[in-house]
Amino acid sequence: MRYLVLTDLHSNLEALEACLADAAGRTYDRALVLGDLVGYCADPNGVVERVQALAPAAIVRGNHDKVACGLELADGFNAVAKRAAHWTHDTLTPVNRAWLAALPRGPVIVDELVEICHGSPFDEDAYIFDELDAVRALKTSQRPICLFGHTHWPVTFELNGGRVETIGASERWIDRLTLRAESKYMLNPGSVGQPRDGDPRAAYAIVDTATMTADLIRVGYPIETTQAKVIKAGLPDVLAQRLAVGR
Ligand code: ZN
Repeated sequence: MRYLVLTDLHSNLEALEACLADAAGRTYDRALVLGDLVGYCADPNGVVERVQALAPAAIVRGNHDKVACGLELADGFNAVAKRAAHWTHDTLTPVNRAWLAALPRGPVIVDELVEICHGSPFDEDAYIFDELDAVRALKTSQRPICLFGHTHWPVTFELNGGRVETIGASERWIDRLTLRAESKYMLNPGSVGQPRDGDPRAAYAIVDTATMTADLIRVGYPIETTQAKVIKAGLPDVLAQRLAVGR
């Protein structure tokens, strides 16, 4: 199975469309969506409806989805994220808000090889930044390939023979990973809608369980269009500015 893997879309419709156009040229069977469809940018309804149209094989909710649909308060968010979350809550149609509220909590098992989560397999809201965080996740995950998001940072951790190794941190970008049958992986493709690794291009992955490869892909998109929508919506300026620098 060839999976299109999308995470942290954050209401950025231009970035999502660019990823989908690029992915169409590479072909895939089904989509997996790892949460945070909304929050930060200005197209929550457009992104939700585009994801619905994909009919993903599996999807989980993210922390921004929970706040935007009213399942959780924005107490843990900084002032900018909080303002965006309230704006998103008020802008989502009642139907789309209810759809987000019904998204499952991760982890979700996809097949015999793959599971997905937003933050980590032991806590949907936990951040996996480094090998220390990754060890617990690798020991908790129930499938050899666990796909995650939440940090907006593309990285893969491999557990092989009791050792954890970091692969493809951004300084040394790797386009294609070959996944070894004897290893376990935590793989974050990076964020579609708000990359934070210094590369402003949208990030996504295609994971192929037949060839045991993961393609880590970056795609340019019309950032100025997204920025103009953010400003026009009255969302904080910083949410537009950060898109240009990928931070
Ligand atoms: Zn996010």
